[in-house]
Amino acid sequence: MTLAALVEALGADGVLTGADCERYARDWAGNRRAMPAMVLRPRDVAGVSAALRIAAGAGLAVVPQGGNTGVCAGALPGAGMAVLSLDRLAGLDIDPRARTARAGAGVTLQALQEAAAAHGLAFPVEIGARGSATIGGVLATNAGGFNVLRHGNARALCLGLRAVLAGGQVVDLMTALAKDNTGYDLRDLLIGSEGTLAVITDAVLRLVPAPRVRATAFAAFRDGQAALDFLARAEAETGGLIEAFELLPARAVALIRRHFPELPAPLARPADWGVLVELASAAGRDAAPGPDGRPALAGLLESLLAEALASGAVSDAALPQSEAQRLALWRLREASLEATTREGRWIRFDIALPRVAVPAFLEQVEAALRRQWPGIRTNHLGHLGDGNLHYSVMPDPVGWDAALTARIEAVVLDLVAAHGGSFAAEHGIGRAKPHLLARRKDPGALAAMRAIKAALDPAGILNPGAVLG
Ligand SMILES: Cc1cc2nc3c(=O)[nH]c(=O)nc-3n(C[C@H](O)[C@H](O)[C@H](O)COP(=O)(O)OP(=O)(O)OC[C@H]3O[C@@H](n4cnc5c(N)ncnc54)[C@H](O)[C@@H]3O)c2cc1C
Repeated sequence: MTLAALVEALGADGVLTGADCERYARDWAGNRRAMPAMVLRPRDVAGVSAALRIAAGAGLAVVPQGGNTGVCAGALPGAGMAVLSLDRLAGLDIDPRARTARAGAGVTLQALQEAAAAHGLAFPVEIGARGSATIGGVLATNAGGFNVLRHGNARALCLGLRAVLAGGQVVDLMTALAKDNTGYDLRDLLIGSEGTLAVITDAVLRLVPAPRVRATAFAAFRDGQAALDFLARAEAETGGLIEAFELLPARAVALIRRHFPELPAPLARPADWGVLVELASAAGRDAAPGPDGRPALAGLLESLLAEALASGAVSDAALPQSEAQRLALWRLREASLEATTREGRWIRFDIALPRVAVPAFLEQVEAALRRQWPGIRTNHLGHLGDGNLHYSVMPDPVGWDAALTARIEAVVLDLVAAHGGSFAAEHGIGRAKPHLLARRKDPGALAAMRAIKAALDPAGILNPGAVLG
């Protein structure tokens, strides 16, 4: 009955069942498989609304899905749930004068970036999954990435959006305004709600002038403090042109290169505080050649590094001499998630700290873990400029059970909390971390979240099991 109503509303090709659902059943790494009861593929907002109205009437749980590149299993259905794929909502329109894009939820990040680039503009959410991650998913997870330091995360780049609530009600907030204080900010509430409050169908996004010039280096800092001091100085000296400040320590580089041996080592001598730093500017004066014929921005970065070398804050630095060399450095950074996945099973943490606390946290967490489990393996890297670490722990497989995972989580996350940090920086909660949310979120905030969920999705059909558990 429900199936027939859905087919009538969405068309025969708008409802997939059986083996046709396979493509939607696996996450990006192929590690997790969750077969949906069916896949709904509406063509437009009206189709999303109809699908949700029918699903609500039938008590059918629905999991919104974009590119399925999320790393917290938020887009993978539980038993008996339908996947609502946004892949056919792929409309895209750039307004170069307004510097905005109107994008359907199913548009990939890369497609948006390429369309913006054709107008000399950029959408600066930079993540390794750009080829598959969709605008709907990027907003639903409030994705971060390499350029948060300068441009903020996805929320900061969204001016307006449209979404469909659990019963099929359309909420139209497709404004392109810089200011709009008209009551509760539903846009910002839905961004980051991971498909549990509404299905995002399209959005108005803020674009920025595309950089004309970039200056990139891989530097070996004496220690974490030296790296952070350099960052603060460079932020001031460049007037905020630092776009990325990515920690890639020797251990992480070795792990990546074990799985991607074709990627060159960034430095001759590995460094514990190796950082990939990138400046970017759209200003003509920064792109103009300096006395040595190279762009002024490159000269600025080199002078900052020369100063740091002279003071001993930096022991070595490599500057790519070509775009190919620059991209190779970025490939190394972007290969990290796939490399750690190939390496084996880890307990993965995506933590946020005040960035000044990162060096002390790392020292303390390594000591605390080794005190209890001397041979334990760890790996870390991340968006140092944002204080966002991707910290992974691999216990001895012998005797590794749920209780051990919980003990390790407690050691790491108690320290994160002691530094005023967060257990979920940019990847969200999904189905992987509701237990941490329940335990570690402020009880008042948690109660308010549950009240919002109950008000917007009283029957609990939108992505049940994700976020609030
Ligand atoms: C190699 C790699 C690198 C990555 N790097 C980063 C990084 O640097 N920073 C970062 O933040 N993330 C990163 N990610 C994680 C991931 O790419 C992002 O979370 C991305 O935003 C997910 O987009 P998606 O379309 O794949 O969403 P999905 O995985 O399909 O969905 C993610 C969540 O959003 C919900 N959702 C999806 N679409 C909608 C919609 N239209 N309406 C409502 N809810 C929806 C889903 O239900 C799910 O809960 C990386 C992932 C990979 C594989």
